[in-house]
Amino acid sequence: MLDGVKPTIGVLALQGDVREHLHALTACGAEAVPVRRESELAAVDALVLPGGESTTISKLLEVFELLEPVRARLREGMPAYGSCAGMILLASQVLDTRPDMQALHGIDMTVRRNAFGRQVDSFETDLDFAGIEDGPVRAVFIRAPWVEHAGDDVEVLARVPSGPAAGRIVAVRQGNVLATSFHPEVTGDLRVHELFVDTVVRPRAGV
Ligand code: GLN
Repeated sequence: MLDGVKPTIGVLALQGDVREHLHALTACGAEAVPVRRESELAAVDALVLPGGESTTISKLLEVFELLEPVRARLREGMPAYGSCAGMILLASQVLDTRPDMQALHGIDMTVRRNAFGRQVDSFETDLDFAGIEDGPVRAVFIRAPWVEHAGDDVEVLARVPSGPAAGRIVAVRQGNVLATSFHPEVTGDLRVHELFVDTVVRPRAGV
């Protein structure tokens, strides 16, 4: 699948489901490494921001002096993928969060944190996902965000198919930066990670 190229992909390892992403990336043929310091960030081709608690990860990015280095790598075009809390962190604007949360501005989008509300705190559904052709993706949402507004250069890859949140945007891509409201790292379905690893190996032009 990787045509002999083995990219090194970091997983931001400050808080959250780091191990699950490391496993999924390794299963896709990447060299997957935890990233906690600037020297480790400098050594990776791409970065995954895991699910967890976005306000905590934001605080720890500052404590570990990684906030500006990650922003700088994103500005330089480093491919990145954020799931759930990671999607929140990659946004340019976040609604319903703490005022001191620091956005990374990886994707031109406004994300609403904990958007699905208490009634449907956590749920699963099957999604049609643009770029993944061989059947729907089983999506696990855990106190998930949605994309309230996506900028003109942002591709919408998936929306909630039915129910009270029908039509809400839950997967997006801008250039080589991908984000999902849900957690493909917990289902054993590797196709979203494969899509990301493919982006790292064969970066999309024009970004
Ligand atoms: N609600 C969490 C947050 O605000 C995200 C939940 C998750 O990553 N499963 O960061």
